[in-house]
Amino acid sequence: MTSDDIAGIVAERRRAFDTGITKPLKWRRAQLEGIRRMLTERSAEWEAALAADLHRPPTETHLADINVVLSEIAHALKHLRRWAAPKRVALPMALQPGRGYVLREPLGVVLVISPWNYPVQLLLGPVVAALAAGNAVVMKPSELAPATSAAFAKLVPQYLDARAVAVVEGAVPETTALLEQRFDHIFYTGGARVGRIVARAAAEHLTPISLELGGKSPLYVDDSVDLAAAAKRIAWGKFLNAGQTCVAPDYLLATKPVAAKLVPLIGDAVAELYGSDAQASGDYSRIVNPARFRVLDAMLADGTVAVGGGTDADDKYIAPTVLTEVAEDAPVMQEEIFGPILPVIEVDGHEDAVRRIAAREKPLALYVFSNRDDVRKAFLRGTSSGAVGFNVAVVQQTVIGLPFGGVGESGMGRYRGEAGFTTFSNEKAVLSKPLAPESLTMIFPPYTKRTDGFVRGMLRKLS
Ligand code: NAD
Repeated sequence: MTSDDIAGIVAERRRAFDTGITKPLKWRRAQLEGIRRMLTERSAEWEAALAADLHRPPTETHLADINVVLSEIAHALKHLRRWAAPKRVALPMALQPGRGYVLREPLGVVLVISPWNYPVQLLLGPVVAALAAGNAVVMKPSELAPATSAAFAKLVPQYLDARAVAVVEGAVPETTALLEQRFDHIFYTGGARVGRIVARAAAEHLTPISLELGGKSPLYVDDSVDLAAAAKRIAWGKFLNAGQTCVAPDYLLATKPVAAKLVPLIGDAVAELYGSDAQASGDYSRIVNPARFRVLDAMLADGTVAVGGGTDADDKYIAPTVLTEVAEDAPVMQEEIFGPILPVIEVDGHEDAVRRIAAREKPLALYVFSNRDDVRKAFLRGTSSGAVGFNVAVVQQTVIGLPFGGVGESGMGRYRGEAGFTTFSNEKAVLSKPLAPESLTMIFPPYTKRTDGFVRGMLRKLS
């Protein structure tokens, strides 16, 4: 696909948007229902695509990709009328009579760029929000999940209004060409390096952006919780999709005695989830490509293997692994791991953990397994992150009422539910006032003593 082809695709969506076809709620509902049918009627094709791209077990494709989108759709369909309705705003006395309200209007043509790790959810989640808000959409699936990308290119035109919704497949050249175009919003999910490229390109057109990035999401565990139960939730959240989850716990902070008890329990939990040999389990994913396999394989040397450690390059397999005796300056503690390796860093207690987390970039998620109120409060007050999970890992991301997004180096902007709808809307402020009676004479010049008294009186009320 050439740059001209891409410019043409975007221009066509702009023409469609300009005709107004995307604005009626009926059209928006039809698109959401189209996505629902595309996922349910063709679920075998999505299962096959994710199995090919990530060795993803079909149950997990439904759990972590398809169901998340279906629940977004159900929620949006239920609330669409209310979200799209004008919101009345109270007027100050001096501006009465009149009517103030906020109109949420679509932004125009939006670009959604997604990564490979949850290739259905992370593309369609933002797309559902953008279509619910009445926008035309260009979708760019990740080239690193090629079977899923091909499924989008094939199925989207069959189920959605192709005049206003398009898929552009491709890698860096195609995305670069897309980013040269003028959009009304760009929604990017992926790593921070490309996030900066997207931000620079968007700046050229003053296009607003959402950046859903990653980072090292910390996990702290103390001995006030049932460690065996905690280990199971941690193992599930960390090793789901072979650790290739943006909100996966990246590293574990614990005191020496807690780590000594918890690490073997994580080993037990891994065996319960994936059997004694995870490579033989149909429920365990693979690393996305050989390049990422090599990066992760090298990280295994950054500590002592306490759980797992097995690899098979030909199969892009890395066992669910826990590393102890890890140096804070080792690569595994410097970069986002994004794989099935959990390094353990020993700390003096929760205050030490809070200090260490606060000294790093703000993460997408923070997990604290503790039943102590003072410990939970210390993390809430002392650290900043996109989300916090107490005694849970990863699942907070699926709660539609909880806005999803990062802060600082982990991103900007929010989606899920109404947060997604407002991301893709312009909140237009409208004030309408009859010309008579004229309540504004009090503030017109020439300024008299009476005007001055009125203004100062207003000031007193305001202060
Ligand atoms: P990726 O390589 O699939 O890249 C994401 C998108 O950027 C793709 O569509 C790709 O084509 C495009 N891209 C790549 N290089 C580009 C370039 N030079 N110019 C323009 N576009 C380019 O995915 P990734 O970055 O490897 O994804 C992993 C990262 O994403 C991790 O850091 C992870 O934490 C983060 N992530 C975040 C979320 C979230 O919701 N916050 C979700 C999943 C992943």
